Amino acid sequence: MTSSGNKIKVVCRVRPFLKTEKTDESVGVEANNVLRVTNPRDTTKDVKFNFDSCYGPVVGQDVIYNNDVRPLVETIFTGLSATVFCYGVTGAGKTHTIQGSGTEPGIIPRAMEHIFKHQERDSFDYDIRVSYYEIYKEAVFDLFKQRDSVAGLPIREDANRKIFVAGLSEKKVTSYEQFDTLYQKACGNRRTASTKLNNHSSRSHAILTVQVQWKDDIGSGKTWCGRLHLIDLAGSEDNRRTENGKDRMAESSAINRSLFVLGQVVEALNTGASRIPYRDSKMTRILQDSLGGDSLGMMIVNVSPGEAFLQDTHNTLNFATKSREV
Ligand code: ADP
Ligand code: MG
Repeated sequence: MTSSGNKIKVVCRVRPFLKTEKTDESVGVEANNVLRVTNPRDTTKDVKFNFDSCYGPVVGQDVIYNNDVRPLVETIFTGLSATVFCYGVTGAGKTHTIQGSGTEPGIIPRAMEHIFKHQERDSFDYDIRVSYYEIYKEAVFDLFKQRDSVAGLPIREDANRKIFVAGLSEKKVTSYEQFDTLYQKACGNRRTASTKLNNHSSRSHAILTVQVQWKDDIGSGKTWCGRLHLIDLAGSEDNRRTENGKDRMAESSAINRSLFVLGQVVEALNTGASRIPYRDSKMTRILQDSLGGDSLGMMIVNVSPGEAFLQDTHNTLNFATKSREV
């Protein structure tokens, strides 16, 4: 269990200012787990938010991985599932956190290296498979395939009542390099689809799922399975404020709805509610088996430092606070 007793930890990360931005700082990290948000008109009205951890703009990718993500990834080798979400408005640092860049690798490359290193030092014969898909307007698309249709893949339940996405590729990978080649190509597919479809990559959820399977070596022959989901969520901004095209409205309501349901699911898990509304969105339905039980997860809440984002920051933090049982 996490220090707060939450199943899904909620941590905050503030990105640094970009070179092009005015440096009017409106948030500050206090005491490792508190974020202070400045009221620009009256500092006596500053608001504080509590998190399981809170990371300021100089905190590197390695620190977040080692402190918070590494222990989660370790749990998949005990047959559990682990999930990491990055939540925030477009531009707040979700993709930087989950994916990163060549010089500053994020959670995905670090987790994959970690998994392959674990495999090397262990005597078990691990079968490692990855899927990478996106959920756009409540439809699921395989990112390992070129998009050839506007209809998404169906979600089904197998004979053991396990939820799965029918027809989704699961690629067996035996080395980091092999994973990276597939992953880079899939990222290219995502970019291409995004360019064709009016930059929708910030309006879809991208989910990388890694499944690790192995057989017991004590003769029982039991097959173990651990799963890791690393998720770059759609931007949480309310597009309805600025855009009113019919397509954009449909998009916005799908995003707002799925993020709302995610918040409700996380809140229900963290408060121990008896009814958890997994079925109310595609993403939570797919993740249902991975979020329940003893499995752990983490929501990284990404915020921008500047005053221009103050309203977005407040909306983001209010969402995060509701998700976290304090
Ligand atoms: P999002 O995916 O939430 O839309 P991005 O990850 O694309 O946001 O980040 C927006 C910009 O800020 C990018 O140029 C990114 O490189 C930069 N950025 C975000 N977080 C950090 C960070 N922690 N350190 C350095 N640059 C960052
Ligand atoms: Mg992004």
